[in-house]
Amino acid sequence: MPELFIGGQWTAALDGRVREIRSPADGTLVGTVDDAGPKDASAAAEAARDAFDRGPWPRLPAAERGRLLLRVADLLRRDKAELARAESMDTGKRLVESEYDLDDVAACFRWFGDLAATDGADRVVDTGRPEIDSMVVHEPVGVCVLITPWNYPLLQTSWKVAPALAAGDTFVLKPSELTPHSAIGLMRLLAEAGLPAGTANLVLGTGATVGAPLTTDERVDMVSFTGGVPTGRWIMAAAAPTVKKLALELGGKNPNVVFADAEFDSAVDHALTAVFLHSGQVCSAGARLLVQEKLHDAFVDEVVHRARRIRLGGPFDEHARAGPLISADHREKVAMYVAAGLDEGAVLRCGGTPPADPTLEDGYYYLPTVLDDCTPDMSVVQEESFGPVLTVERFRDEDEALALANDTVYGLAAAVWTQDAARAHRMASRLRAGTVWVNDFHPYVPQAEWGGMKQSGTGRELGRTGLAEYQETKHIWRNTAPSPQRWFE
Ligand code: NAD
Repeated sequence: MPELFIGGQWTAALDGRVREIRSPADGTLVGTVDDAGPKDASAAAEAARDAFDRGPWPRLPAAERGRLLLRVADLLRRDKAELARAESMDTGKRLVESEYDLDDVAACFRWFGDLAATDGADRVVDTGRPEIDSMVVHEPVGVCVLITPWNYPLLQTSWKVAPALAAGDTFVLKPSELTPHSAIGLMRLLAEAGLPAGTANLVLGTGATVGAPLTTDERVDMVSFTGGVPTGRWIMAAAAPTVKKLALELGGKNPNVVFADAEFDSAVDHALTAVFLHSGQVCSAGARLLVQEKLHDAFVDEVVHRARRIRLGGPFDEHARAGPLISADHREKVAMYVAAGLDEGAVLRCGGTPPADPTLEDGYYYLPTVLDDCTPDMSVVQEESFGPVLTVERFRDEDEALALANDTVYGLAAAVWTQDAARAHRMASRLRAGTVWVNDFHPYVPQAEWGGMKQSGTGRELGRTGLAEYQETKHIWRNTAPSPQRWFE
């Protein structure tokens, strides 16, 4: 069965091209999918435009759209095992992590399904004039292009698809060319749930051949993108001539700040998951550990001790705690950042190479790596390696911790560990990041907004704002008793 989904039809790429998807865990062939080009992208934009301008979806009562999203949430639960497996095959991540992701995907559909019906953002404005009906209403933006990355393929997709559908938009989804299978599965579920043809369209292909033409297409009203900062900058510029609405969820270089009074065992444990979960391929990874000077030695020794014990393995290895990197190129990039850090004076405490285990040599594994004695000027501290690489910096006091933590062009997430509630509060309010965790790392809920300050992006996903991103706000002013103004007399 072909894998592009355009105007309610499953179709092959017009020029017949296909792409092989290989497991990053061992190089085995996961599948062969249709590989779209600009003409397929154009057909998908046309189908979405037509469905928006003439189709039923934008005109349905919001509560009915919400009900369909809740049906999708049920179907996701039904097909959880199959979708989680597909996700793990494409990404190499542990099956149990893909299963958690699937629960979060269903929760996202439930949140926006409920919100669609109960949003209540429309309002009557009191103008003080009884003859005026003044209303502020919310309408769908139109045709949205949704471009997603490979690290959390279905999760990042759900953060866009669910609110776009709740708002009444139509869309063209372009997942990462490396991880297409769960997006194909989601399209099947949307069709099964009864979504009208043309509302949801899927094109598979690279950023250059499919993402770029969609970004400049005049029929598209909005681009919602999750990915790296360089691509985000390109999209921002490419969308400018047609003044599209943009939502950009970009990278992070997130500080994890540990004060000497932190609860030691929890802080060490979370410092590890902060950076080594999914082998560091997490936008909110706590890749910069800032430790108060007097705690530094004991804390870093323990982090290194536990990092050395992290077992690597493929998605179905039940003993593994972290998987491979997504590709050979990506592993090369991570290795280059480590080499640059060492050149610039960092001290290698563990890792720094692929594992020696011969059973892992067909995958793109890289050992959990800790670089100590880092300084803010190092590229490995400032730039997103997006791998299992922890840099450690020391600080003396709260002001220095804050200055180091905020010394980054990114502003996605940050964490602070302390038992001093007043200090926690001061730090949380002064850290320039879209999410701040206190004595925790990584949790999020669909009810709370997610997104970045500074170069980590524009706009927010999830929460109520996550729906508003996909809506236009319109003020309707109706004069029920018009009379001449005689301004020009
Ligand atoms: P990427 O920027 O290389 O690619 C992301 C998507 O953009 C892919 O689908 C790709 O095909 C597409 N793309 C590439 N060039 C394009 C172009 N010129 N026009 C249109 N589309 C184009 O990112 P990636 O390597 O897939 O993902 C990793 C990055 O994503 C990291 O920087 C990570 O921090 C970020 N990320 C951010 C969040 C967040 O919530 N802020 C979440 C997950 C990942």
